[in-house]
Amino acid sequence: MLYKRSSALFKAAEQVIPGGVNSPVRAFKAVGGTPIFAKSAKGAYVYDEDDNRYIDYINSWGPMLLGHAFQPVVDAVIEKTKQGTSFGMPTEIETKIAELAVSMVPNIDKIRFVNSGTEACMSAVRLARGYTKKDKIIKFAGCYHGHSDAFLIQAGSGAVTFGSPNSPGVTEGTAKDTLLARYNDIDNVKSLIEANPNEISCIILEPVAGNMGCIPPKANFLQELRSLCDANAILLIFDEVMTGFRLAKGGCQELFGVDADIVCFGKVIGGGLPVGAFAAREEIMNHLAPIGNVYQAGTLSGNPLAMAAGLAMLESVNNDAELFQRLEEKTAYLHKGCSRVLTASGITHTINRIGSMISIHFAEGEVVDFESSAKGNNETFKSFFHGMLNEGIYIAPSAFETWFITDALSYKDLDETIAAVAKIAKTL
Ligand SMILES: *Cc1c(COP(=O)(O)O)cnc(C)c1O
Repeated sequence: MLYKRSSALFKAAEQVIPGGVNSPVRAFKAVGGTPIFAKSAKGAYVYDEDDNRYIDYINSWGPMLLGHAFQPVVDAVIEKTKQGTSFGMPTEIETKIAELAVSMVPNIDKIRFVNSGTEACMSAVRLARGYTKKDKIIKFAGCYHGHSDAFLIQAGSGAVTFGSPNSPGVTEGTAKDTLLARYNDIDNVKSLIEANPNEISCIILEPVAGNMGCIPPKANFLQELRSLCDANAILLIFDEVMTGFRLAKGGCQELFGVDADIVCFGKVIGGGLPVGAFAAREEIMNHLAPIGNVYQAGTLSGNPLAMAAGLAMLESVNNDAELFQRLEEKTAYLHKGCSRVLTASGITHTINRIGSMISIHFAEGEVVDFESSAKGNNETFKSFFHGMLNEGIYIAPSAFETWFITDALSYKDLDETIAAVAKIAKTL
């Protein structure tokens, strides 16, 4: 493949944007080479500035559950745009999407919209601290909750990829309030709670981790967290920025039958526009300004274009009774095919999968936490990534990322992908 225009555009970008990108993982630093610049996308495919076509497994890092340029979303945004793009006043569509989200997700009464997953998680923790009047939080190594200070402690994918789990600029004062636990290790969480009696406001986690590869929770892990939280007056926060409206209509609360106290959303909920949200039972949400005293605000929060995209997206998800079944079957097909051809070439690998999330780890044994995920062979991954790219398959440029399966993928696309994996596996 030729990347002539992408290379030139990257050079120009580097002059005026740090590293040439507005979010670090886009820069291909973990895999080497020059990032490709997107020009357009439709359905399962993304086209770059050199007119190369790729089958896309990044899908804007999650939002494009139903494929790129999904018609109902495109139409809704165009229509809304004609009526003005922002007012800073309440609009009817905010209530409509809120009603729909509350009806789809179990155990929430009220939801507030923000502009990103980062903002959602940051605000959820502030709310938990304000509600419980306690300062400390527990997060898990390898879980990513956006780039706000409290979370940049072993933060998974982006941060890990660059070997700077603790970013300069995060103060020691902030870091000391964030306690770090091992994912899928309930005893570790127990000992942290015992060592910090009456100090922990919340436990935040990705109920299915997606930022250290895809790591589902072990049986009962979420239930046991729930019990620990109940016993110690700690709020349980599910960060469903990646999994919300992706693994089930009601997300992981529905999938695993475990209630969270606060749920964070992003990605799919905006249909590709900048949207995040956090939600909880009324009793908790009423602590937010203007009725409560926990402050949180946003000039562009609930923006009409973003709400129109999100509403069209959620309606499509809600009205499609077979969607999650189809996604599961496609992902299982890909899993089976990749497993078969990698094994045939004698490549050591572990594949994790749940619903429409899947990750290939070039490592032996179970991948259940950050430590086991980090054992993957990064040199093998780099060669695999560039090989796949050259075959027209666009996977995330980091071994710590999940592949996202969209409904737009056909079985022909999946076969093409498996054939590419087979071809590249022979060269690894
Ligand atoms: C992407 C992501 C975030 C951050 O969302 P942004 O919109 O990038 O700020 C937070 N939590 C999880 C689980 C994510 O995957």
